[in-house]
Amino acid sequence: MSAVATATLRTGAPETEQLVDTYRDLAAPVVERIADADFTTQWRAMADLGVLRLASPDATAPGPVTRSLAMIEGIGLAGIDPGLCYALASQVFGMQFPLRDSLGADVWRAVADAQQGRELLCHALTERGGGSDPFSMRTRARRDGDGFVLDGAKTFITAAPVADRAIVFARTSEGRSPFALSAFLFPLDLPGVRRGETFTKTALPTVPMGELLFEDARLPESALLGEEGSGLAVMASTTAWERSVILGYALGPMQRLLDRTVDWARDRDHFGRRMGASHQVASRVSDMALALHRSRVQLYAMAARLDAGTPARQLAAEAALTKISVSEDYVRMTEHATALSGVRAFLPGFDLAADLAGPMAALTYAGPNDLLRVGVARQLGLPVEN
Ligand SMILES: Cc1cc2nc3c(=O)[nH]c(=O)nc-3n(C[C@H](O)[C@H](O)[C@H](O)COP(=O)(O)OP(=O)(O)OC[C@H]3O[C@@H](n4cnc5c(N)ncnc54)[C@H](O)[C@@H]3O)c2cc1C
Repeated sequence: MSAVATATLRTGAPETEQLVDTYRDLAAPVVERIADADFTTQWRAMADLGVLRLASPDATAPGPVTRSLAMIEGIGLAGIDPGLCYALASQVFGMQFPLRDSLGADVWRAVADAQQGRELLCHALTERGGGSDPFSMRTRARRDGDGFVLDGAKTFITAAPVADRAIVFARTSEGRSPFALSAFLFPLDLPGVRRGETFTKTALPTVPMGELLFEDARLPESALLGEEGSGLAVMASTTAWERSVILGYALGPMQRLLDRTVDWARDRDHFGRRMGASHQVASRVSDMALALHRSRVQLYAMAARLDAGTPARQLAAEAALTKISVSEDYVRMTEHATALSGVRAFLPGFDLAADLAGPMAALTYAGPNDLLRVGVARQLGLPVEN
């Protein structure tokens, strides 16, 4: 791997960079050992390294979010499977942090085991009919005695086939009122809860995706997150957290892509000289470095804002901009690397084989970029709706 490229872009605070290196070095031998293991075994191996453990909210230099981001970047640099890295980042940033920081001590106690990797969480919002418009959801929870009865289905859910507990969004009243939805957190072994179809994915294929089916599933009152009708507010928190930092999972793969492209362009002889002696090739490599630099700076800046105590909901626009920017930079970097790799980019057995679907999927999950753009423009004052 090119030491020059790696060193040039590491401009964060020394203690954060140290943590990235520590987790890269801790994960490196594990990556080889678990390469052929199933998803849950791989998950537990990363949990054993401490990747799912949140630092105390009082931690400083670096704060807890920056620490988690550095760990995720470190294991990504070590070359862990991007699907596994994505799923870990999704649980840490899209579920654990919002559950701990916005939803109170009782909720956090219920999921604290997730930090040891003994319980896996999933975030169930999307339905077969669509994910972008939460008010199109058909899953319903109706009051019944001292609890709720849940009916419906959640589809295309990361980790649903292997998860132990889910955050599930359901309609508790009709219409498109901001108070029509509620959020629930409950174990998936309750009567009336079943796993449905499992989906094979072209993007991040190693993390399982599936469906959850609810048929007269009785939920205790304690399963309700926040108040009845506060589902949209819970969603605003989990999605703002997720959009702020989930793409930290891509920093390792992006750096590795840059390093291997530099090695290739520097060493390959082409047209009677080194391929990297071409200004056009050099320009593409610089654009890759620019994309990675921009992404890294933005993600760590969002982590710092969250560490400083800014409520995630207040960061909705910045979170959307960060998600759009990093996902599109990831795609752009992949385009450059693919262009410079020639046919080898399309041959899975080659070192220069490109992952085209993984970066493209980042344009869609955690909110499709086109719709996030609409939300940003609305916050800026345009009279625009989805
Ligand atoms: C790898 C991966 C993991 C995922 N994991 C989860 C998960 O764990 N939990 C979960 O709940 N969901 C998950 N999803 C689903 C994801 O959240 C949805 O794909 C997303 O919300 C979009 O919903 P949809 O696919 O139904 O697209 P649709 O809502 O059908 O929209 C289709 C496309 O049309 C465009 N579009 C629609 N309306 C407009 C408009 N008015 N203006 C402009 N463009 C528009 C959107 O940009 C979108 O790309 C995952 C998806 C992927 C790819």
